[in-house]
Amino acid sequence: DSKDYDSETESVCPFCGVGCKVSLKVKDGKVKYVEGINGPANEGRLCVKGRFGFDYIHHPHRLTKPLIRRDDAPAKGLNVDPGNLDTHFREATWEEAMDLAATRLMALREDDPRNVAGFGSAKCTNEEAYLFQKFIRQGFKHNNVDHCTRLCHASSVAALIENVGSGAVTATFNEVENSDVVIIIGANPIENHPVAATYFKQFTKRGGKLIVMDPRGVGMRKFATEMLQFRPGADVSMLNAIMNVIVEEELYDSQYIHTWTENWAAEKEHLSQFTPEAMAPICGIEPDQLRRVARTFAQAKAGLIFWGMGVSQHIHGTDNSRCLISLALMTGNVGKPGAGLHPLRGQNNVQGASDAGLIPMFLPDYQSVMDDDIRAKFNNVWNSEDFSNEKGLTVTEIIDQAYAGNIKGMYIQGENPAMSDPDVNHARAALAKLDLMIVQDIFLTETANYADIILPASALYEKNGTVSNTNRQVQRVRPAVTPPGEAREDWKITVELAQRIGLNWDYTDVSQVFAEMKLTMASLDNITWERLETETITYPSLSETDPGQAIVFGDGFPRADGRARFTPASVIPPDEAPDDEYPMIATTGRQLEHWHTGSMTRRAKVLDAVEPEANCSLNPRTLKLMGIEPGEMIRLTTRRGSIEIMARADRAIAEDMVFIPFAYVEAAANILTNSAIDPFGKIPEFKFSAIRVEKI
Ligand code: SF4
Repeated sequence: DSKDYDSETESVCPFCGVGCKVSLKVKDGKVKYVEGINGPANEGRLCVKGRFGFDYIHHPHRLTKPLIRRDDAPAKGLNVDPGNLDTHFREATWEEAMDLAATRLMALREDDPRNVAGFGSAKCTNEEAYLFQKFIRQGFKHNNVDHCTRLCHASSVAALIENVGSGAVTATFNEVENSDVVIIIGANPIENHPVAATYFKQFTKRGGKLIVMDPRGVGMRKFATEMLQFRPGADVSMLNAIMNVIVEEELYDSQYIHTWTENWAAEKEHLSQFTPEAMAPICGIEPDQLRRVARTFAQAKAGLIFWGMGVSQHIHGTDNSRCLISLALMTGNVGKPGAGLHPLRGQNNVQGASDAGLIPMFLPDYQSVMDDDIRAKFNNVWNSEDFSNEKGLTVTEIIDQAYAGNIKGMYIQGENPAMSDPDVNHARAALAKLDLMIVQDIFLTETANYADIILPASALYEKNGTVSNTNRQVQRVRPAVTPPGEAREDWKITVELAQRIGLNWDYTDVSQVFAEMKLTMASLDNITWERLETETITYPSLSETDPGQAIVFGDGFPRADGRARFTPASVIPPDEAPDDEYPMIATTGRQLEHWHTGSMTRRAKVLDAVEPEANCSLNPRTLKLMGIEPGEMIRLTTRRGSIEIMARADRAIAEDMVFIPFAYVEAAANILTNSAIDPFGKIPEFKFSAIRVEKI
């Protein structure tokens, strides 16, 4: 036998929302290498992160014992060396750490339950997300629980729920095989959803027309029939102009609109003012191209629209999504093969964590916390007293309330707000003010620097459960290796903490959590733990033999009368405009090799070797004008703060823009970003800050 491993385990890649299935080859108790296997989202393919980014799980920085902040630790700040924790923390037994955590949580609760809030994680499983929201709702009787969807697709979900009745995608990305036109807007799948991008490339190779819309000339432009490099923040003006053409030239699908939608007359009337000529100076796209794109999409037999953070992370993110929904509806492009709306999900389980109710306004399956009957249903299953009927606070609102001293304690599982929140110096100051911060994670993240109690948790390849990808596909994850030292699976930690604060939890196996979720989540109908042993199942699944529906809403929408809605959107300028002091525009995002705040990928050898240094990208002409050589350090300053970072030349960046990845603590992009939020999705405007660039 030539096998070079001791065992192999099937699981799902821990990084992006594509949800590639993997086989983990384990030797001597460690993952040696990873191979892509035949899951519906990847058909054996993996990107560089999935293939080479796994070894962070064996990094010496892994937390292996519970830690308690020393009485004589320096003042809270971003000041702990992750290789030497003794200066700030002492090791404790699980017994001592859990006892302290529970005692202090109960003391805060006794004073006022709203003293405590929670951030769960899109990096954890569905079961862990479900338990986390239940912990706050049952344990503290309110809804102040959220996770990184707030920084991601919250505005897309707000628009989708409002207008089509469901926040999930209406078609899987694999449906491009049945499309003849595809729009990708505000997304950079070659770097952020690389395996999904392979399907998009195949689509163009067989003659499909790809329309790319983005203020950055992202990689997919090489495959595009039309590239619209529009002005940052000008999404609504461009999309309304395209829809204006569809209305003026009567290219819309009257029968579909009549049968399946409402509010068309108002939408049509509203769009009349957004002519291509009027909008071209705002969005920077010529009227001819706007007309061409309108005709191409409207005349498609089947058109699919994909979008990413470029659409969602604006103070008008919900309006941006409303436009995309209207465009799909007016052209009849929902509910049939090759057509639909697909916000590409970022984190591996942001879809599942949101479905599981890890959001302040919704219980599992987006059931409103304000509905008495719905809360009664959950209280019945939980054998619990009622909790608040008020929508809870969102991520940035919780941070603001912590800063104001109204929230005194937080339980943070696998999130890193000290890196990921906008205007992050404000978020760090808020975390430093908390009386009690319990952090459950696999590394001493920037957030854990501020913790009072640290609970060592498990990486995805060490745990059992389910995750749901961008396609609504539910898949099993399985432990290939055991967590290091005394680290534990996240769900087990939450269960023990719940028991210690007096909750009636008696789960002994994660499958019991899944079984409880099924009692209140219709989306899991016909999806059983047993089926998931061998199958990936797309929800909704209509029978115990149905692998699930790749396309939904062919026979109506989950709204009153079964109709979707047009919600007109107007042009709203970004929160802050460039001026003499801050003349350029900053946008942030990910790059291929690094994942979000970098806590995992910067500890993965290959990925860190490829991208070891904080960098930002500017147009070569801009660099030349400023006398900056690529590779030189520059200073970036906004109204919130300043960072020093290495400059790179990238022709894809507009001449008045800077692109900054947010993975690097030594030049944290979010020191610069604006915390102004979209009023509906409550998502911050990460994609537009006025900025000054200086040669050092
Ligand atoms: Fe992992 Fe996403 Fe890459 Fe697939 S595309 S291997 S899920 S990071």
